Amino acid sequence: MKLITIMIPAYNEEEVLHQLHSRLTDVLSELVGYEFEMLFVNDGSQDRTLPILKGLREMDPRISYVDLSRNFGKETAMLAGFDHARGDALIILDADLQDPPELIPLMIDLWEQGYDDVFAKRNSRTGETWFKKWTSKKFYQILQKVSHIDIEEDTGDFRLLDKRCVEALRKMRETQRYTKGMFSWIGFNKKEIMFDRDARAAGTTKWNYSKLFDLAIEGITSFTTVPLRLSSFAGFIVSLLAFLYILVIVFKTIFFGEEITGYPSTMSVILFLGGIQMLSLGVIGEYLGRIFNETKNRPLYFVNDYNGERKFISSPVE
Ligand code: UDP
Ligand code: MG
Repeated sequence: MKLITIMIPAYNEEEVLHQLHSRLTDVLSELVGYEFEMLFVNDGSQDRTLPILKGLREMDPRISYVDLSRNFGKETAMLAGFDHARGDALIILDADLQDPPELIPLMIDLWEQGYDDVFAKRNSRTGETWFKKWTSKKFYQILQKVSHIDIEEDTGDFRLLDKRCVEALRKMRETQRYTKGMFSWIGFNKKEIMFDRDARAAGTTKWNYSKLFDLAIEGITSFTTVPLRLSSFAGFIVSLLAFLYILVIVFKTIFFGEEITGYPSTMSVILFLGGIQMLSLGVIGEYLGRIFNETKNRPLYFVNDYNGERKFISSPVE
């Protein structure tokens, strides 16, 4: 029988876990001919998420959990999930029931038809502010333009991945992760399905604008070096203009005598060049920071407990 892993990253989700489990159980009970593993990744929750998971595991042996040694963020929690998943396919699901588990049968159906990556694209986003929707839309438009890979707009991490996609993602062990870009980057046979995203069932969002901003920078710097090129380009244009301006000044000085009232133009040139330099340094700094982080070559996460077994290292489970 084929085994399907349902991987659920959870950070302070005590309020929804029981509801999630019962909704999942309802959906899975209708799928005959498959075995299921519900793999929870407890991303260093400070609430009762872990004890609840342990309790659920006693009732339902299909549940496994990976307890990370601290909060590493959803991107890394998902990698821990990929490493520990045993299934022939893996479905990534948010704990807060914003991704309806009712789509799972359709995903499995398409997987059986030969698709490797069945991703859910949302029609609407209930319970999110217009500002969040707008910023996210603009971000994807920009990212699409500057990077050469297609990153699906309005698509979260809710998707089914064939085992070989999971295998591919396990190999991508960069520290500053932008998993949504990786799904596109690895390629394979993709299929899109549409759904309406619900509002959170309970609890509050774990995101804030500072985390989103980090993710946006991660998204850009991990998939494109266009900003570096832009800064060299801007530098080139500005130097060219400055050179032309110097010619004008020299010409004027020779033929019309020395100019005394040069203060405003001098100041504006200095400030403008200063700005461009700061900007370019910042861009270089972003990439340098990434290089620094990658060269440390640290493990990406540590596991505290895997299904009751005390572990500590972060490697794919054989
Ligand atoms: N999450 C996580 N680690 C974190 C933040 C979030 O594992 O540091 C999980 C969270 O428990 C949820 C999923 O990632 O299952 C999505 O988080 P959330 O619903 O807060 O984000 P949103 O849907 O608002 O983008
Ligand atoms: Mg959510």
